[in-house]
Amino acid sequence: MGNDLTKAQHAAIEEAAAIWREARCPIASTGAGISVPSGIPDFRSPGGLWEKHDPAEVATLQALRSRPARVWEFLFDALDIFANAAPNPAHTALAELERTGRLAAVITQNIDGLHQAAGSRNVIEFHGNSTRLYCMRCKRDHDAARITTLPSADRPWECECGGVVRPDIVFFGEQIPRDAMTRSFAVAQEADLVIVVGTSGEVAPANTIPATVKARGGKMIEVNLGPSTFGTMADVAIRAGCEAVLPALAKRLM
Ligand SMILES: [Zn+2]
Repeated sequence: MGNDLTKAQHAAIEEAAAIWREARCPIASTGAGISVPSGIPDFRSPGGLWEKHDPAEVATLQALRSRPARVWEFLFDALDIFANAAPNPAHTALAELERTGRLAAVITQNIDGLHQAAGSRNVIEFHGNSTRLYCMRCKRDHDAARITTLPSADRPWECECGGVVRPDIVFFGEQIPRDAMTRSFAVAQEADLVIVVGTSGEVAPANTIPATVKARGGKMIEVNLGPSTFGTMADVAIRAGCEAVLPALAKRLM
């Protein structure tokens, strides 16, 4: 997999493990980067869905109301990518850490449901979950598995009542679900360590979680392949693939 870690990266993992061992209430904050090794390209990076679809045309509530067929063109693409993805070793490591009492919660910006698929239980979804779908008119739930039986492409998924079905995800311009906001900030108030994985910290308000933990004297471990906006906020920054780093970290904590 090309996941060989360098000596410096191993040293950083060792340092991170030492911080983690001391923590009473560690939480993880994850973003698109943790699902890239599962075959879900970051929408915003080259090759991502925003190259093919303009988010202003396909990912707003306004678009869903006025041009549902165009939005569903994008959704069929996105949901197909999600349906074919499975959790990778980074998701599995976080689930294992939770099971063994080393992780209190995962707060994620992802809508792919892969943390739950890996076995994580306390998952707070900032931007909803694409596997939950409901009718915009009558509000009844629809089973995501039915998507493969739908006539594709040039029309939206329609409910028996004639309404348009939508995924329970946060489109641009929509509010973060109140429950997710309340729970994540409650968890962040308790946490004395936040492990940031696969997010460069540009998306608000998810990016305020690490700052909340730090402001209360907590620590931060960052696992990112590329550059981020966290800078000196991180006590340890490991610049390597999370699918290699998190299992290595978990192994040291078991
Ligand atoms: Zn309906």
